[in-house]
Amino acid sequence: MRDSDWTRILNWPGYRVYQHEIDEKGKLLTLWVRRKRGNQKMVCSVCGRRCASIHEIVQREVRDLPWGEYRTTVIVELYRVKCPNCGPRIEKVEQLPGKAPFSKRFEDTVGRACESAAARRVAQQFGLSESTVRAIDLRYLERWSATRRKPALKQMGVDELFLGKKAKFVTVVSNLESGEPVWFGQDRKKETLDDYFRTELSRGQRTRIEAACVDMWVPFQRSIEEWAPNCVLVYDRFHVMQHANQAVDEVRRSEFSRKGGWRRQVVKGERWLLLSRWVNLSEQKQQQLNQLFSLNRRLMKAYLMKESLERLWQQPNESAAREYLRSWIRQLRWQRLASFEKLAHLLLDHQEGLMAFYRVKIRFGVVEAINGNIRALLRRGRGYRNLRYLLLKVQRLAATKTEFIALQKAA
Ligand SMILES: [Zn+2]
Repeated sequence: MRDSDWTRILNWPGYRVYQHEIDEKGKLLTLWVRRKRGNQKMVCSVCGRRCASIHEIVQREVRDLPWGEYRTTVIVELYRVKCPNCGPRIEKVEQLPGKAPFSKRFEDTVGRACESAAARRVAQQFGLSESTVRAIDLRYLERWSATRRKPALKQMGVDELFLGKKAKFVTVVSNLESGEPVWFGQDRKKETLDDYFRTELSRGQRTRIEAACVDMWVPFQRSIEEWAPNCVLVYDRFHVMQHANQAVDEVRRSEFSRKGGWRRQVVKGERWLLLSRWVNLSEQKQQQLNQLFSLNRRLMKAYLMKESLERLWQQPNESAAREYLRSWIRQLRWQRLASFEKLAHLLLDHQEGLMAFYRVKIRFGVVEAINGNIRALLRRGRGYRNLRYLLLKVQRLAATKTEFIALQKAA
């Protein structure tokens, strides 16, 4: 095979193979590569300026895509150019985006493999260490992120996510329209979200935020009110129902903790049943719940109150919803359900944000779908101590196949 054939198969635009070596035993192919004669355009890798003169010629060795069974190493002749802005700098070459000893297309292949497999498996497949695979994947994602169009933020979701004992809480800001997280911040204080508004958005971008879907978490609300003056707060139904579920659970515990014997045994395993929606339960499970309710009327009342709260979001309009909330609270009278009275106060205090649901069309459930994606990623592979990496990973997941989890949630 002639060098021109090697050049054609290698297919690095602007470069030609001038020497090669085949190690049949070790299954190694080494190709020496330099510029084609016509390729004279040199660009500084730091500032991107065109440069006319060469400071020195150097060689770099990178791993490229395999040829059949052969692992391929490309040794490239590179110029250090005399950049008028930066001084002597290495030139920019498309296949060598960074300092790592891999070609761009090799990194792209590894990065794509990481989209459907854990880093450990990709590491085995390519004969790399796991940490190298993660570093390659991160660069792959950074390059993708740098070139893609990022949708404007008009409807934002703000939520907290518990990442574990070490990383603790992370604040997740998401774009509800594109269904992807846009920012992670360590902790969940007002200052955390302040940081996002200050460092990531211009004044114009902040004023263009129309709505935020949030939990009834005061620090986030204060931050949004301060930084995004046109933003309407809408409380996420999911979070409100979480509070309702907690209230049911408190009733369960206070009603049955004092009781011993078989009654206690009955209720012990029923926690998740009480937290499920009636319509999602099988007939058998519904019967099980009815049995439980026959033991305790108060627990039944709590469950029914929780179930009926869902209809707050199914009213024909805002005034009907306000009336619905009032009557829901009225039903609590004389019931002695302390946890629900607490919930009622919470709902009254946050009534405007609850009712905003009827004024602002917002996609509920997106925040939860995003959190679901993050948790799924965390379960699949460790090594997301790097929040930036985790963020890019979830964004990429959203761009390629989030719909799948989002739809699951909606169903
Ligand atoms: Zn330069």
